[in-house]
Amino acid sequence: MLGVVDLPPSLTRIVLPFGQCYAWRDGDEVTLVDTGPPGSGEAVAAALAGLGLDRDAVVRIVLTHHHIDHSGSTAEIRAWNDAQVVAHASDAAVVRGEVAPPPFDLLPAEQQLWDSLGADDSLSPPSLVDVEVTGDEVLPFGRGARVVHGPGHTPGSIALHLPGPRVLFTGDTVAENGGAVILGPFNLDRQQALGSFHRLTALDVDVALFGHGEPVDGAGLRAAVPGPFAG
Ligand SMILES: [Zn+2]
Ligand SMILES: [Zn+2]
Repeated sequence: MLGVVDLPPSLTRIVLPFGQCYAWRDGDEVTLVDTGPPGSGEAVAAALAGLGLDRDAVVRIVLTHHHIDHSGSTAEIRAWNDAQVVAHASDAAVVRGEVAPPPFDLLPAEQQLWDSLGADDSLSPPSLVDVEVTGDEVLPFGRGARVVHGPGHTPGSIALHLPGPRVLFTGDTVAENGGAVILGPFNLDRQQALGSFHRLTALDVDVALFGHGEPVDGAGLRAAVPGPFAG
């Protein structure tokens, strides 16, 4: 079993009815990592209120990838205070609603999970993307958040590595499920995703945060195995 991980005081995990997103606080400014499915705005605002922050505090939204459970409330939250939306260049057109997301090629285990979740591959409400990244940029939050391009889950999937506080946001390339840290399901290019999974799980951090599942510590991340969705 994985132990409970203490999150840095600057970090708030916002658990949503499906999935989750994260708020990173630098003083009075908040960076959101993902925005949850459509309709998550009020849950995010309530989490910020719990920190004594107004919704206007959101200055930046970084999308780990275009899937609707991660980008679905971007347009809604961006409208609060013109937050800057950051996404990888290879996912930006889907976030903007210019092109449909590519179709999945699911393993039987993924199809079963997909059906049990009643999952949805429809488009998110379109949002502007203000900044397109390609990898290795350092974003100005969390004492410098390095963009790590980890394609495969989607072409433009990114992780965020914060060397200062030793934190990693993996998006869906890595997931926690029942105490195991595994390759997340529903990858558009499974082999490419597996390569990204190995690169991310080799990073030296104290806290790893996933698109789905509980946070783990560095030992938990290093114990990652590809798991049932690696094919
Ligand atoms: Zn995803
Ligand atoms: Zn997801």
